Amino acid sequence: MKLSRILSNQNEVSRRQANRLLAAGRVFIDGGVCREGGLDVSRFREVRIDQDIIQCAEPAHYLMLHKPAGYLSATQDEQHPTVMELIESGLRPQLHIGGRLDRASTGLLILSSDGLWSRRLTEPRIKIPKVYRVKTAQPISPETAERFAEGIWFDYEQLTTSPAHLDQLSDHEALLTIFEGRYHQVKRMFHAVGNRVTSLHRESMGDLKLDPTLAVGGYRHLTTDEVSSVG
Ligand code: URA
Repeated sequence: MKLSRILSNQNEVSRRQANRLLAAGRVFIDGGVCREGGLDVSRFREVRIDQDIIQCAEPAHYLMLHKPAGYLSATQDEQHPTVMELIESGLRPQLHIGGRLDRASTGLLILSSDGLWSRRLTEPRIKIPKVYRVKTAQPISPETAERFAEGIWFDYEQLTTSPAHLDQLSDHEALLTIFEGRYHQVKRMFHAVGNRVTSLHRESMGDLKLDPTLAVGGYRHLTTDEVSSVG
């Protein structure tokens, strides 16, 4: 909810008074002065007017999961197991997925109960780099890196993908960095250059790197630094 709305939802605080409180530096979010009435404030942040808490911070959950192949990035499904089944049942109802992976894909999957936070990970506009280790059916052609850097035309969306960086590791393997997360994006990019992805593993999203100590199917809570690295 917008900060100005949170303020003016208080008894005895009119819209005009809310603006005055903001301008006078009497409004605090998580202990810091905030003067931006238009700021979207999640329920996981504390809001104060002077010393009075008008919104308590709800505890939020931020997890990284090492997604195994064969699990759907969904909350429930009748046919296939979902990644939620890998998470302790008490946490499940509050979580949603920040950036899905296809059923066969593996690697870093972020789950959170804080929607505003996880949206920052996935919004194409914000351009967080996502790094994928890709294996391909055909040898990766010499022009692939250049084509990806120029952007690939996606007919369905009527757009050109943002410049992506390909770091070729061998004939059939590369690290690909993309800055969006469109539907089947990596597979469609390779398809556009006449190749086919046989294995896809996400290594990182921005500063969030898949913890190498996490077993396949395992998860852990993010550290405070990891949470604050996202925007
Ligand atoms: N791009 C894909 O094609 N699949 C994924 O799982 C992730 C990115």
